[in-house]
Amino acid sequence: MTTTVDFVVAGGGHNSLITAAYLARAGQEVVVLDVRSEAGGGAATEEILTPGFLFDTCSTGQTLIRVNPLLSKDELGLVSEFGLTYIEPDPVAHVVFPDGETFTMWLDVERTIEEIARFSAADAVAYRRMLDEFDEVKGVYSSYRFTPIGYGPSIDEALAAHPAGAIWRRRNVMSAWDVIRREFESRHIQAFMSWMAFMTSQPIDSPGSGYLAYSLVGGRQRSSWSVPLGGSASLPRALVAALEAYGGSVVTDTLVTSLITEEGRCVGVETEDGSEYRARVGVVSSIHVKDLVGMAPAEMWGEGFVYGVDTYDEGLSSFASYYAATEAPQFRSSGPEPIGAVSAGTAPWSEDVIEFGRGLRERRLHRPGTFLLFATPTLVDETRAPAGGHTVKILSLAPYECPDDLGDWDTGKDVLAAEHFQTLRDCAPNLTEEKILAWKAKSPVDIEAGNPHMWRGTIHGGDRGLAYGGPQRPVPGWASHRMPIPGLYQTGATTHPGGSITGGPGRNAAIVILDDLGMSLDSMVAKGGDST
Ligand SMILES: Cc1cc2nc3c(=O)[nH]c(=O)nc-3n(C[C@H](O)[C@H](O)[C@H](O)COP(=O)(O)OP(=O)(O)OC[C@H]3O[C@@H](n4cnc5c(N)ncnc54)[C@H](O)[C@@H]3O)c2cc1C
Repeated sequence: MTTTVDFVVAGGGHNSLITAAYLARAGQEVVVLDVRSEAGGGAATEEILTPGFLFDTCSTGQTLIRVNPLLSKDELGLVSEFGLTYIEPDPVAHVVFPDGETFTMWLDVERTIEEIARFSAADAVAYRRMLDEFDEVKGVYSSYRFTPIGYGPSIDEALAAHPAGAIWRRRNVMSAWDVIRREFESRHIQAFMSWMAFMTSQPIDSPGSGYLAYSLVGGRQRSSWSVPLGGSASLPRALVAALEAYGGSVVTDTLVTSLITEEGRCVGVETEDGSEYRARVGVVSSIHVKDLVGMAPAEMWGEGFVYGVDTYDEGLSSFASYYAATEAPQFRSSGPEPIGAVSAGTAPWSEDVIEFGRGLRERRLHRPGTFLLFATPTLVDETRAPAGGHTVKILSLAPYECPDDLGDWDTGKDVLAAEHFQTLRDCAPNLTEEKILAWKAKSPVDIEAGNPHMWRGTIHGGDRGLAYGGPQRPVPGWASHRMPIPGLYQTGATTHPGGSITGGPGRNAAIVILDDLGMSLDSMVAKGGDST
């Protein structure tokens, strides 16, 4: 079977759907292909355990995409026309420290600051100062993230031109830990800030992670750990509705196996069942670059590109477990009552978090530093479970190759998940065994099996340190979404500004492709779809 359209989009995560929807809105005929049974990739909400319990099997928090003009300006009508609604949970987060102390971050900044002052008056002052300083420059960062590489100044140039930017040029190349240890004196507040800074799986001692020490708390202090009503999949469902309204379509259960090239150009893709999807204008991919290079002859990519992909660091792998429960975890707190929180966790001492990150590279779990995030979105969204029921997800990290003490992942994943669940119960003693109706663990191998774009179980498209971010992502010289094979564009987490649910790679790719078609995304949106 052969299908011919203007643009074939290979992979239907939220980023590709965003690119596809802008292209369709500009009048292009677009088809999106995805191997999963529903488009959306890591923005998935699925009934994986017990009827009626709808789990966010990957992402839950979608704070980062809310400042993308896609949503802040509602450019595709996802909010006004296609029903996308965000909830801002309060408290924002709650953590338990190794010594049993606890800390709660509230949406009301004064309340958070009061909570910090319980540990250190100086740290309370430092926190306010950090937020104020971040407020001054956050627009610079946002604009950098939501502009394709090559279409605006580098982050260094943009900061150099900003009145408050000088010190940020240094922070930008510092590590998150270097920032945290200088700004805060309390071991507990350092631990909380380290837990937050590690949220995107970037080791907190890696150069270039300094910005994360500010941006993760800054964003959440403003709009909490935002979750879409109905589950993470509400975002791609709104995108698919928009895409279809603009004339595009999605084909699921379809694995793209190779690129079709003719006369030096990419002119389509071939799928596992032998079908061809041909593109009159171009092919857009969110296939992981490590797989993509195998989908066309090596000489078409060029030696430099292939070497760049070979040396591209895939980042740290993730581990997750899911529990259908009859009660939400109620965490030990500093107050008279336990506390429920959509986002909670254990915050190990910072030196252990650093060691945990290092160990992952060496196929070793430094258990005192185990990163755990407990997500219970049903606390604020009753549509996701039967009355009184809750979905609890525990997110952590683990090496792709199973550590020796766990044997192999087939059995080792249940052992590790049981350790994580025991830690959760230590923090929330109400969550006894009989409150759990069903559970399931996913090792990094399972995560990859469920989505080939999560290469080796990594969930952010690759390391986001200095060497692999911005103009270096995925390969120096090829960061503007145009690939070495003419007619082929890359989007998704392996492109700027990287992983998480930001929509940045998707919208940036749309800007570049529309530019190549002689169109401007901004004027197309302003004119309500008329792209000329
Ligand atoms: C357990 C877990 C928890 C997470 N929590 C969060 C969170 O709370 N907040 C957050 O922001 N992020 C979170 N993430 C990360 C986030 O899900 C990803 O960074 C994000 O989904 C990347 O989006 P994307 O559009 O680039 O690609 P993806 O969402 O990975 O989508 C890529 C799509 O391409 C398809 N595909 C790939 N190869 C092929 C092929 N050859 N043929 C056909 N289709 C193909 C895949 O099936 C997939 O649908 C989490 C991820 C996991 C696994």
